Amino acid sequence: METLIVTRHAGAVEWLRRRGIVGEVAAQVSAEQVRGRIVVGILPLHLAAEAQEVLSLDMPCLTSEQRGKDLTPEEMDAAGATLTRYVVNRVSVDFWPCLVCGTKDQHIKEYEGEWAVTCRECCHTGPLAANAQDAVTAWNQEQAAHLKKLLA
Ligand SMILES: [Zn+2]
Repeated sequence: METLIVTRHAGAVEWLRRRGIVGEVAAQVSAEQVRGRIVVGILPLHLAAEAQEVLSLDMPCLTSEQRGKDLTPEEMDAAGATLTRYVVNRVSVDFWPCLVCGTKDQHIKEYEGEWAVTCRECCHTGPLAANAQDAVTAWNQEQAAHLKKLLA
C-alpha cells in the first residue's frame, strides 16, 4: 500500500521525495486512513498504533523561529533532519470490574490534562491521575478498597 505522508509543509514533502519516499500527502488523517499503512509524520499515539509503522521526521537542531514553519529541504538538513522508524502497539490494560455496577467495560479518559478511568455502563469515574497508567492503577486500587469494604 502507498506510503501516507502527513504534513502541511511542501518542503518536507520535497525532502522526503529526494530520499525516494513518495506517496499520498494529507494535512490531517483519520484512523481509517492510517490503518495498516506506512505513515510519515507526527501522529498521536492512538493513530500511530493503527499504522503498520510510523516514520518520524525529527529535526533536533530546529530553532524556535523555525518551529512549525515550512522549511526548504536545505534548511531541514541544516536542522539535522532524520527519519526514525517507530512501531506503536496498543497495550491492553487490565481493569478491575466497576464495583458500582459490576461490569467490566471501562475506558481511560482525559479530563483537562488529568486522566481517569470511567465506567461506560454507569459513568462511575475513578480518581484523577497525572497519566493514563496511573489512572488505571488508581482505579484498580479504588475498586479493590471498595471490595475489601464490602467483604469486611
Ligand atoms: Zn459501573
